[in-house]
Amino acid sequence: MQKIIVIKIGTSVLTDGAHVINNDVLRFYARECKLLRRQGYASVFVVSGAVQLGRTETHTIADKKTLSAIGQVALSAAYREAFAQQGLVTAQLLCSRHDIAKRHLFRAFQRTLAGLIEQGVIPLLNENDALTNGEIEAFGNNDMLAAVAAVAMSAEKLLLLTDQEGLYTADPRFLEDARLVREVGDVTKELFHYCNGPASRQGVGGMIAKLKAAKTAIAGGVETIIARGNIRYRSHLSDIIAHKGPLTCFRPRRTHGALTNHDRWMLATRPSGALRIDGGAAAALRSKKSLLAVGIRDVTGRFQQGEIVRIIDRTKEEIGCGIVSLSSDALKAMFAKGSPRNTDVIHCDHLIMY
Ligand code: GLU
Repeated sequence: MQKIIVIKIGTSVLTDGAHVINNDVLRFYARECKLLRRQGYASVFVVSGAVQLGRTETHTIADKKTLSAIGQVALSAAYREAFAQQGLVTAQLLCSRHDIAKRHLFRAFQRTLAGLIEQGVIPLLNENDALTNGEIEAFGNNDMLAAVAAVAMSAEKLLLLTDQEGLYTADPRFLEDARLVREVGDVTKELFHYCNGPASRQGVGGMIAKLKAAKTAIAGGVETIIARGNIRYRSHLSDIIAHKGPLTCFRPRRTHGALTNHDRWMLATRPSGALRIDGGAAAALRSKKSLLAVGIRDVTGRFQQGEIVRIIDRTKEEIGCGIVSLSSDALKAMFAKGSPRNTDVIHCDHLIMY
């Protein structure tokens, strides 16, 4: 089996801070893709920039859906041309959360990507921004789409290429002693605080989205690297995957072999409901036990029996997800009557901890 690497090229990398595509960037990454192939890696690119390019083409339109539909044409064409110069064939897939929400759809997504990779075609993935709404339907950003694709394909590595060197303890432009975090084991709340400084541009989505994506990816067994991808630094992907140069590497807590396809699908979905649990229940789940009703402190959102819910600990950190054996209405009714302590709400086989 080929090793798979998922590479997300952020808009700031693609345009290098301008409003139009920098074709040198795409030519550079097409060459890099070919070099990676020689090292046995099949690449999947997650391509951002459709909205930005739509804006550049029209000037008068403000609606993001329309802009993404317009800009996607130019984006795919630019990738196609740059990769064709290296003799590489590209294929465009537009995908959102609801396209993989059901298990059979998730499997179809995996099969299509695997089929393209097997034929030596380079998949270009982007969110189907023109047709999706809200956080249940949409990934909302391409970092998460890239993480989900990496988990779905059991990728060896996920590269989130951006205009920053990685995760800093504070914004390095404002704080001289801000330190680059080189290695992360667990994506804890503390790391999110690093992105929250009042003057930090990192907090406006970029780095936070990357941390959330890294959390999903490492739970799914995928090593994740945030690194600077701007063309002027010409950071070779082979160096980045060998951890050379400034970057942040997130180490996975499990191997691909420790996950079932069912686990991967659970990680890829965005449930609407959540269960807040107490410390005892959190410890039990970590030692692979089931979630019992007695450990639940709060039920939020609406869900049916058999749906996936998020599991939140008492510090409000999302620590896992699983399939519930009772609907939100049934759970609330049970608590209103006084809680039956031993009811199994999430069975340990239907649970994945981050
Ligand atoms: N899908 C968006 C676009 O192509 C990009 C989202 C992101 O940058 O995370 O414009």
